[in-house]
Amino acid sequence: MSGRVYLVGAGPGDPGLITHRALELLARADVILHDRLIPSAVLAAARDGALVLDVGKRGGDESTDQTAIGELLVEHARAGACVVRLKGGDPFVFGRGGEEAELLRAAAVPFEVVPGVTAGVAAPAYAGIPVTHRDHASAVALITGHEDPGKPEPVLDWSALAGFPGTLVLYMGVRQLPVIVERLLGAGRPAEEPAAVVERGTLSAQRTVRATLQTLVQRAGEAGIGAPAITVIGPVAALHDRLDWFAERPLLGRSVAVTRARAQASELAERLRELGATVVEAPAIRIVELPTVVPELSSYDLLCLTSPNGVRLLFEKLRASGRDARALAGIRVAVIGPGTARELERRGIIADVVPERFVAEGLVEALAEVNVGRVLLARARDARDVLVDALRERGAQTDVLELYETVAEPLDAVTREAAMAADYVTFTSSSTVSRFIDALDGEQLSVTTRLVSIGPITSETLRARGLEPNVEATRHDIEGLVQALLADVQGQARPVAPGR
Ligand code: SAH
Repeated sequence: MSGRVYLVGAGPGDPGLITHRALELLARADVILHDRLIPSAVLAAARDGALVLDVGKRGGDESTDQTAIGELLVEHARAGACVVRLKGGDPFVFGRGGEEAELLRAAAVPFEVVPGVTAGVAAPAYAGIPVTHRDHASAVALITGHEDPGKPEPVLDWSALAGFPGTLVLYMGVRQLPVIVERLLGAGRPAEEPAAVVERGTLSAQRTVRATLQTLVQRAGEAGIGAPAITVIGPVAALHDRLDWFAERPLLGRSVAVTRARAQASELAERLRELGATVVEAPAIRIVELPTVVPELSSYDLLCLTSPNGVRLLFEKLRASGRDARALAGIRVAVIGPGTARELERRGIIADVVPERFVAEGLVEALAEVNVGRVLLARARDARDVLVDALRERGAQTDVLELYETVAEPLDAVTREAAMAADYVTFTSSSTVSRFIDALDGEQLSVTTRLVSIGPITSETLRARGLEPNVEATRHDIEGLVQALLADVQGQARPVAPGR
């Protein structure tokens, strides 16, 4: 039976602007053929084992030409594969999706289209420019500035566009801008009309140049605007001056590397992106479940859980042996911090003990008043022994249940380079420190890179590797780390020690 091709829009750049349907299909696809400039966070939604091919155009000439792309689509679909053809923005807006759909129809290959958020609407929106407005624009024209070089005559009717009663949105490189502006002015579009160019719209590095039609080329040139860029011509462009909400994001233009395991990275990565950062996902570790079996729990007085992963795996293991949350009935539960408590609460259990300091020592203090008796400590294999030692010292009969271990995750060269050049590298545990530095293979981080540690233990590990953390969170969880980083950016934080 033939497979199916999905012509899918990946949105304009901000990974948050991909559709739910697109993510669903990416997770299911056997083959993904994608354009250039698809955010890596979007491609990360592909399942393990999927064939992911970059068939994007490079600098004008086509690296995999349109015919070859068509052939690949048909070939994989005929072999029964679920094929995602992933395009920037919307597949049917200057994305050649129409041509590919026709080709698939001709080859009798079933296809579906998943629209995406198009750059011509999204980039202006992120610059505070609504492409329509009750008072200023009742129509909008989406225009490609790329004229077909094979044709001697201009493809577009510029005098019609000059007279168009609404906003003009131009999809094109800045190289075409002078010619197009000249044509519009020549055809009578008012020279004083507000205009704007939005470079790298919806991305952390987004920049906007505001001008009039007359001054646009010069201003864009002065600012050194490059690709990709959207040009907006019309009275709505002036709203940028008042509505530029994106520029208020505190981490705009900063790159931040996240070294924790991919499966855990999303909360931190999303939070950082929301604040405007460019996130480099550089997972240095991977969580590997150990084949341990959860013992009968009813004979324990206290269960200690030291990470959200531990909670997740404990419940998975209980489930695998035919048990559920009731196995914890009557047992006191202590956790190391609010993230672990939250994970537990999702499974219907409210932690009895949450320390004020989210480190093992904090939990030891918090347990001072608790009758410990028989304790089960469920945690990672490579965890520190602070808690075990302290509990045993107090005469508690302590068993350790090793649920998982963290192993090194190799970084590819591109990710490693990006992480090494980042403005900030974040460390959420000692194991991320060790594995990340191992992954650098003796190479040095950029001297301007600032190191952010979630707490004192992680900082110790950094120092043991000859690195001084520039920022240490006072609250040892993800939000605490984000706040510490923000304070550092705003220059309010006093680094743990000057320089590195
Ligand atoms: N199908 C895409 C457009 C592809 S044409 C869509 O619907 O968005 C490529 C052009 O889109 C680029 O030359 C540029 O003008 C524009 N573009 C794409 N992504 C952009 C971005 N993040 N910011 C500004 N312009 C962008």
